[in-house]
Amino acid sequence: MNGDLIHKFYSRIIVVFFLSVSLCTVCVGCGKVQEKSSKEVALDDEDGSDAESDEGSDDVTVAEDQETTDLSDTNEPEKVYEEYGASDDGSKVYICTAPQYVILQRAPGQEEEDEDDQTRLYAGTYLKWYGVEETVDNKRYIQVTVKDTGEEGWIEYLYGVEVKCDPDISGLDIVETDNVLYTYDMMCRDIDALCDRYGDVLHKSIIGSSNTGMNLYEITLGDSDAKHHVMVQASIHGREYMNTQLVMKLLEYYAHFYNYASYNGVKYADLFNNTAFHVVTMANPDGVTISQLGVDALGDPDISDLVYEAYERDKETLVYEENSNGDLTWMDYYKDKSFKREDNPNASRMITYEEYQTIWKANGHGVDLNNNFDAAWDDIDLKWNPSYGSFKGYSAVSEPETKALADMVIRQDYECYLSYHSTGQLIYYDCEGNSETMSDTEKSFAEFMQDRIHHRTSNNKSAYNVNLGGFGDWIQLSLNKPSLTIESGKKPCPLPIGEFAAIWLRHRESWAALAGEFY
Ligand SMILES: [Zn+2]
Repeated sequence: MNGDLIHKFYSRIIVVFFLSVSLCTVCVGCGKVQEKSSKEVALDDEDGSDAESDEGSDDVTVAEDQETTDLSDTNEPEKVYEEYGASDDGSKVYICTAPQYVILQRAPGQEEEDEDDQTRLYAGTYLKWYGVEETVDNKRYIQVTVKDTGEEGWIEYLYGVEVKCDPDISGLDIVETDNVLYTYDMMCRDIDALCDRYGDVLHKSIIGSSNTGMNLYEITLGDSDAKHHVMVQASIHGREYMNTQLVMKLLEYYAHFYNYASYNGVKYADLFNNTAFHVVTMANPDGVTISQLGVDALGDPDISDLVYEAYERDKETLVYEENSNGDLTWMDYYKDKSFKREDNPNASRMITYEEYQTIWKANGHGVDLNNNFDAAWDDIDLKWNPSYGSFKGYSAVSEPETKALADMVIRQDYECYLSYHSTGQLIYYDCEGNSETMSDTEKSFAEFMQDRIHHRTSNNKSAYNVNLGGFGDWIQLSLNKPSLTIESGKKPCPLPIGEFAAIWLRHRESWAALAGEFY
């Protein structure tokens, strides 16, 4: 089956027009990674590697009052939906996925200077693209027409995705998307509601539990006896909890339109009966709870003590300063042995205990689960004590959450893997130690997903942080299966709820597209 997948993704390498685009964006991403000082470790990234590569930050501003998706009470789709694939006028239908708006440019890279003359395209705005594009300063721009107004202009390619099918989503009324604190309890409630309503399409099982006894759920979308299987996991890092909302909403979307919508002419039902998705919706509920509600919400005095002791150790090296996107965030200088707070002009403010808990990535034992897998674990040289992040644990696969994921993967043969993290609008692929064939497969897989969700790709071999121990590293090195790490969102974690609509729209058809590769 793996050969199948290698063939599918490898064959994409010869698609010349797409290769030229992705080479460009990979170079840009890598350049940014290498520019960054090795003394700094951004807090809002994937296991320490740089995730702030958004080149379009000047074009995008977050609006505080932007509304998220409006969901009404109806829950039955009314008709089979047509695809946009063959538009009458030869255009492709795009939807704006800027977090949260992008300014329509009069020429590639040129905005109206006067704010009154600017047209803001919010996430969800429909656009038409007739295939006209230009690359300026390594950024790809497309000329678009706003569907509702007919206004023409340019946006960066990264801030829209093609929409194949556009069903009325007003019936999606289970998973809440307007509350940033989407807790473990809310997820459990919604899993039950989804499985009640869509019991013929969604099935839940429990693959293990956290240190405090919270369940790790696997939701299967499609036929569990399908010919192909894809494994997805989200929120292995606590503060990246918006990814739980993302995968839950995706499950609701596909279940709701299972018999009504299609991708490239194939009904979702046919796609997911052929390729089942197995989704671990919250891989680290203890960490999510610490970040959302504070450690005392776990009700375990030992864990509360551990987190406070970690705060006392870590606060000395945490500095609140601008990242490369211009956002203020907590940067950790723990690897810089010569770091002195008094020498850093930004270090006058010490992180509070409340703030420290919100940036918690690890599990309830202070172990960074994405450094705890058995992938070159002995060589990991990060932190040596429990911490909000970057402590690999006292032994590989020491944690119940890590073990549950590893056991799940060993139990069933999945053909590929997606891990959802935040933030940075990136797709990480490949890892040190892969064979050439595996690296090629990874690259093709990343480019395939890039074509759908329009994030830049970044080869992990090029990142300065070569520490492994991640879920995806272990999948690639031990199982020789393709695995991608997707960094959703733009702002530092925890992501603001205002980003959700754009993130969800960007990913909405991506699972159908991937299932389509196996069809
Ligand atoms: Zn992460």
